[in-house]
Amino acid sequence: MTTIDTEELKALFARIAVAMAHEKDRLCELDGVIGDADHGIAMELGFAAAAKAVSELDSAAADPTLVFNTAAKSFLNAVGASSGPLYATALMRAGAVAKGKTALNDGDIVDIVSAFAKGIQDRGKAEIGEKTMVDAWVPAAAACRAARDQGLSLAQCLIAALQAGEAGAEATKDMIAAKGRSSRLGDRALGYIDPGAASAVIVISCLKDQFTSE
Ligand code: ADP
Ligand code: MG
Repeated sequence: MTTIDTEELKALFARIAVAMAHEKDRLCELDGVIGDADHGIAMELGFAAAAKAVSELDSAAADPTLVFNTAAKSFLNAVGASSGPLYATALMRAGAVAKGKTALNDGDIVDIVSAFAKGIQDRGKAEIGEKTMVDAWVPAAAACRAARDQGLSLAQCLIAALQAGEAGAEATKDMIAAKGRSSRLGDRALGYIDPGAASAVIVISCLKDQFTSE
């Protein structure tokens, strides 16, 4: 059983911020094809702001809920694009899962992945098949939960989440967008991965790397 405290969560946000900075150009290129080419900028700015704000919290005094809520607020303030409120809601929901806990365990992380998916769905009202980040997050959360129910380790749960998220993101290539900016393109968006689904895979990959490293 892993124990995940505020220090570990700070490291997670730092890891995501670094990954988004690396992938910024690729995400902007994907968004350039079917949107307005800013998704990489939004995700980099959002997670850089979140990582900085949580790094400034006093680890001895800040519980995991405060870490997630601080990240949510900074993400929302930093990002003007539609991904801002979607991830801010996801992060607030993660904060709610952590409520009253001084540290998180394996089951809490599985619950947080579910809360992310549910929060994004509740906020954006997108269903599976509408070519959004939901197409990566929802199958990832389901696979993570299924692996947990089979008694697998957190590492195996997150590997399952990543594989399902990658498959879900890949499947957006064959979808016509029904939500967000790219819905105006109709079938011209066919053949291209949704940028939000691609960045969801990056976040899930960071969760996997962070919690399989011990
Ligand atoms: P914007 O479209 O405002 O420029 P971004 O470029 O940051 O915002 O994010 C675009 C991504 O947001 C899309 O690729 C899609 O995955 C996601 N998205 C847009 N609208 C929704 C929605 N209603 N529900 C879920 N995800 C959405
Ligand atoms: Mg955009």
